[in-house]
Amino acid sequence: MEFHYCCSICNKIFDIVPELTLCPDCLKSQQPDQPLSGVLEVKLSGSSDENFTSLDLLPVEQKYFPPSPVGNTPLWEPANLRQKTGFKNLFIKDDGSNPTSSFKDRASFLVSAFAKKFNINDIALASTGNAGSSMAGIGAAAGQTITLFLPKTAPEAKLVQALQYGAQVFRVDGTYDMAYDISLAYSQKKGGMSRNTAYNPMTIEGKKTVSLEVFKQLGKVPDTLFVSIGDGCILSGVYKGFRDLKQLGLIEKMPKIVGVQAKTSDALFRAYTTGKFENIPTATVADSICVDVPRNGIHALAQIKEYEGEVMTVSDDEIIQAQANLSSTTGLFTEPAGAAAFAGFLKSAPGLDPEAFIVVLTTGNGLKDIASASLGICLPETLISSVDDIL
Ligand SMILES: *Cc1c(COP(=O)(O)O)cnc(C)c1O
Repeated sequence: MEFHYCCSICNKIFDIVPELTLCPDCLKSQQPDQPLSGVLEVKLSGSSDENFTSLDLLPVEQKYFPPSPVGNTPLWEPANLRQKTGFKNLFIKDDGSNPTSSFKDRASFLVSAFAKKFNINDIALASTGNAGSSMAGIGAAAGQTITLFLPKTAPEAKLVQALQYGAQVFRVDGTYDMAYDISLAYSQKKGGMSRNTAYNPMTIEGKKTVSLEVFKQLGKVPDTLFVSIGDGCILSGVYKGFRDLKQLGLIEKMPKIVGVQAKTSDALFRAYTTGKFENIPTATVADSICVDVPRNGIHALAQIKEYEGEVMTVSDDEIIQAQANLSSTTGLFTEPAGAAAFAGFLKSAPGLDPEAFIVVLTTGNGLKDIASASLGICLPETLISSVDDIL
């Protein structure tokens, strides 16, 4: 297999080197407060039969990957939920079961290997919490030095997790968007590799492995796949995996991808309906998808248009209810951003074929943010001291 970079806007081809992050030509049209212009994709050439492993289709050789069991996450067949909803072929791909308990490990894993290959030991990034704790954990396995920029609103569990893994953490007095800019400025001054999402092409490429796994686990392409959207990199990664399979002739049709945003942090949804990205301050209980300017917005939107996907929104109430609903019917406890995808499925259910093969991607473990999860339950208020107090 051979690999190159290809600009997602102008299709220019480049060699894969760590110095190159965005297409130098398309970068010239970058506007302030807009998504990244000239996001690079990895393009593969070669052939493969269906016996490939995910590593075969990634642009870094196996020997550079850290010893961390990333991916190969379980595809749940939730019997109670199937019965309750009437969807016989409903599946949940639980990426909260990755080593650091979020989907972000798929990107960190490849970024770590890419840095290792080029003898780069320092990796910096901005994160709402999961990308940071993920890079910190994968970096710990690889023996790399990780520097994080987290907004002050990042849930404590994600901060503590990153510090446990030994990362250097800077808390930013502002939003994730501000952390993103500070992180880029830091990398430009200090050198090393930036793992900022979409800016580093390996983030999208690493995320494609989820689709390769879903294809293998189902033995076919699902009809519809629900995934939440923040910066839009997971969404693009999901598309990239299926596109690679199509290019290799292993599948014929693309699945319909439904991207789900929080109603109160809906920059990509607004651009999907109006065609314009606007930088408006947003907030949602689903911190992992709280993004004002989706860095991968242009690229993600182009994919949705080309493959007839859809973007929808769900309210914070719907997210919190969906989270508790999923936990109590399946035993799968996912964080609010993961529950957003499930809320999107529940909201869309009346218009879906009950025979369809549907995959809901849960992207993070619920224990990462118990403050939000507490909103969906009633904590027992009184303390008891004997069984007589309750019987
Ligand atoms: C990062 C993240 C998302 C959204 O991914 P994007 O690439 O930013 O769209 C969704 N869920 C969880 C748990 C995440 O950590």
